[in-house]
Amino acid sequence: MGIVGLHGAVAKVIRIPVGENVPERPLLIDGAFELGSAERFAILNPATGAPLDSVASASPDQIDAAVAAAVRAQRSWWASPQPARSAVLHAVAAEVLQRKEDLADVVTLETGRPYARNLLYVDMFADLFRQYAELARVHGGRIAPSNEAGQLSLVVRVPYGVVASLIPWNYPLLLLAFKVAPALATGNTVVIKPASETTLTTLILAKVFAATTPPGVVNVVAGSGRTVGEQLVRHPATDMVAFTGSTEVGAGIGAICGQMAKPAHLELGGKDPAIVFDDADPNLAAKAVVWAAFLNAGQVCTSTERVYVHHSVYDRFVDRVVELTTQLQVGDPFDPGTQIGPMRNERGRAKVLEQLAAAQASGAKVLAGGVIPEGSAGFYLQPTVVVDVDHDMELMQEETFGPVLPIMAFGGDDEAFALAADTPYGLGASCYTDTPDRVRRAYEELTVGTVWVNDPVVDNLAAPFGGMRASGNVRELGLEGMDAFTSTRHVHWNMRLEDKPWWYGDVE
Ligand code: NAP
Ligand code: MG
Repeated sequence: MGIVGLHGAVAKVIRIPVGENVPERPLLIDGAFELGSAERFAILNPATGAPLDSVASASPDQIDAAVAAAVRAQRSWWASPQPARSAVLHAVAAEVLQRKEDLADVVTLETGRPYARNLLYVDMFADLFRQYAELARVHGGRIAPSNEAGQLSLVVRVPYGVVASLIPWNYPLLLLAFKVAPALATGNTVVIKPASETTLTTLILAKVFAATTPPGVVNVVAGSGRTVGEQLVRHPATDMVAFTGSTEVGAGIGAICGQMAKPAHLELGGKDPAIVFDDADPNLAAKAVVWAAFLNAGQVCTSTERVYVHHSVYDRFVDRVVELTTQLQVGDPFDPGTQIGPMRNERGRAKVLEQLAAAQASGAKVLAGGVIPEGSAGFYLQPTVVVDVDHDMELMQEETFGPVLPIMAFGGDDEAFALAADTPYGLGASCYTDTPDRVRRAYEELTVGTVWVNDPVVDNLAAPFGGMRASGNVRELGLEGMDAFTSTRHVHWNMRLEDKPWWYGDVE
């Protein structure tokens, strides 16, 4: 039994056994559970900083075996009738719900995010598998107009084959489902490599897949991105790479895939702006922005990372943001009263503190937070509000990925849109306004994948999600998410073999 609590308090007894006494952490290769045969790596508890567990990595031979199993399984998986494949996806959804509390426990331990939200993400995982089970039943190609009479031009949608799925730690259930549900629904098989920090969660999912999918259709390996992840990317038998993670790592993966002409789907980092116009209620907008900035301790790819406020409502907005931020309950993620848990790792927290220190050295002022909560273990950071920032600061240009909200005033709409557009990223943007023309400008002028109006950072599983520019090159979710895991094949079919005037010679 593992026991967790901030300041050493016992907050909750975990039902799933974790810790050094539980060495069995098998991978899933070709439908069989197998312990990794390479080096062990430790997983730390972000709420305490103490070791939570350790897992043995997959060896190069085991990775080869997982890919080979996926290759073998793919033809018959794709050849199976769609209703049968859809039934398997429904079974995954049902099985994951059987393990809802176990999964929420382990996600809470591994991510530090408050428990209640993690229950919600198990439901969303199941919902995604159900959505793609049903969409796949009606997903098909088209018939293009032919060159001549007596011909058919079939545009057939075909799976890529074996998908290497590389998942980050911030949403280990959801972001895995974004890829794996549509990939399986359309006839691909997968080899999953979770983030090292959320391996335990993913090994529970491996049990779900083992109980529901044919051998080889879903394989789960574990280990470091630089070794296990890169072997999957470079492997000649993986047909595409679906990656969610940082822009830096994604760019490297894209370069390797480019040399191999292998499709690489990249869902990368963000620096999402929010614009609060003068027709928005500053109190309500402040509430929305505080939510969007500090959800998951700011470790959401679509976190609001900078906010521009019309000068006429700036003071009221900032006062309210500071008030709400200082009231946030930071603490043990298993405590039902906790709103904000720890950050995931020391590296992330150090980067945030560096950005903050540099901004302060250039004149920025911290109005709330900016410090590590007194007496806390683990990787906590008090939610932070910063003003007097300028656009040259790293804090306004680079992804922060932590609980920090810089606020800047603007004069007119042109200035607001120009500031919002002024970073290399293009994941999402939110605006607060009731003026249709401002909404139109936002979706026409901002080079982003998602625009939220008055309701930030919500997912709609039915609509596409993804980034532009340094934030990525693909769309997941919605119908678009299913198209993303298929290629097209054109079948040019002359219904009869008959002579063509441009062929050489005469017919005997
Ligand atoms: P990360 O360090 O880039 O890692 C992502 C995944 O790739 C992990 O499984 C990682 O394994 C693996 N990996 C690392 N180096 C690799 C390599 N050289 N070759 C192959 N795989 C490699 O990202 P993270 O720290 O887990 O997640 C945070 C980042 O993800 C943030 O930048 C965030 O904005 C971004 N994100 C984007 C989206 C989106 O949809 N656009 C959603 C969520 C998060 P290890 O854990 O073993 O290193
Ligand atoms: Mg990482």
